[in-house]
Parts: sequence; structure tokens; C-alpha cells
Amino acid sequence: MSLPPDILKSLVRAAAEQVIASAPELTALDQAIGDGDHGANMRRGFEAVLDKLETIGTQPLDEALKTIGKTLVMTVGGASGPLYGSFFIAAGDALSRDKRLPADLAEVFGCAVGAVSARGRSKPGEKTMLDVLCPVLETLTADAGRPDLIDRVRATASKAVARTVPMQATKGRAAFLGARSVGHVDPGAQSSCILLHAVCNSVEGKQ
Ligand code: ADP
Ligand code: MG
Repeated sequence: MSLPPDILKSLVRAAAEQVIASAPELTALDQAIGDGDHGANMRRGFEAVLDKLETIGTQPLDEALKTIGKTLVMTVGGASGPLYGSFFIAAGDALSRDKRLPADLAEVFGCAVGAVSARGRSKPGEKTMLDVLCPVLETLTADAGRPDLIDRVRATASKAVARTVPMQATKGRAAFLGARSVGHVDPGAQSSCILLHAVCNSVEGKQ
């Protein structure tokens, strides 16, 4: 499947620019329960994606997703680099096999989320990006075909971020804090929410 290059490029640009603009917020979140590098990690990764935008724009969607994933693996670093990289590579792999968009959106997203879970040996409830990605997968599955699906995805992601606040981290650096990780938003949950909102807004033509 191919998207018109202009549409693919504007989607990727919107997501990357939103993550880059959110770097200070992600840094502050990671300073509270991690080592403070999540903003810089994500900015570096998505700047590298922007550098490849012309190439990505001409690729079929499966290849474009794999290029994004490999770029993030090589540039983001930290725990989140391989995890976000796995997410995009697995989505691309699903499309290279038999999955099609928009019909198989939930399945494709499910493959991507499954790759994060496998790579991170993690599951929802551990105060990570999966606490946003898994609820969004549920919404994509349950509400597929609804005219307000995009609104529902945005709302699910925002609510899911807020639900990480009372969680105690059991994966990633924040787990070292034990009970002191309670009371804060998880940085990776927030970056996932930012990415999802940016993609939703771009699909709707808001950006
Ligand atoms: P690091 O923790 O190595 O400094 P980052 O700060 O870039 O890496 O990313 C931290 C985020 O990565 C966390 O907020 C969390 O959402 C996510 N994360 C960490 N470990 C895991 C894991 N095992 N599974 C899923 N997500 C994880
Ligand atoms: Mg960090």
C-alpha cells in the first residue's frame, strides 16, 4: 500500500514536529522519575526521521514505517529507542505480510504493540508506554468503523496517560524508585500520547 507522498510526508512531519516541540515537557517528566533524557532522546530520533523525510515520502507505507523504526533504533537510545523502533518496524512488517489499511488498522497496531511488549518484556499496569498503547489498541478494536474513531483514540490516549499517575513503576528506570514513582505521569506514556494525537490531528487535516 502506498500513500500519496505529500500525505505521508505531512503525517510524518506533523508527528515528528510535535514530538520535537514537546521535548522540554518529556524531559521534565523523565527528570521526576527517570534520568531526564527522554525529551532529548525523542527529539534526536525524530530529527533524524525528519532528515529522511524525502526518502520516507517516496516509500510504500510498509517500507516507510520500517525506515522510521530503524532510524529510531539507531538514534533515540535509552530504553525507548528500541521499543519505539520495534513498534514501527513491526507495523511495517505486518503491512509487508498480508495486512491492509484501513481495514486491518487494529491488527497492524496490535502487531506493533505486541513487539513493544515482547522487546520490553512488559505488559500494561507497569507504568510504561504500554499503558497508553494497549488501551488505544482496545479502542481501535472495539470502535473500528465508527465515524468518531479518531476522537475516541485521542480521548483514550489522554485518559490513559492520566491513569499512569497513581501507578507504581515495575519496568524501566522508574522501577528503581519503587513507591516514589507513584504520583507522576510516565514519560513514555506521554510521548506515545503526543505521537497519537499528532497522527490523529494530521489525518483529520488539523495540521
Ligand atoms: P531510559 O529509561 O533508558 O532513560 P527513556 O527515558 O528514553 O529511556 O524512556 C523511558 C520510557 O521508556 C519510560 O517512561 C517508559 O514509558 C518506557 N519504558 C522503559 N522500559 C520499558 C519496558 N520494559 N517496556 C515498555 N516501556 C518501557
Ligand atoms: Mg530516561
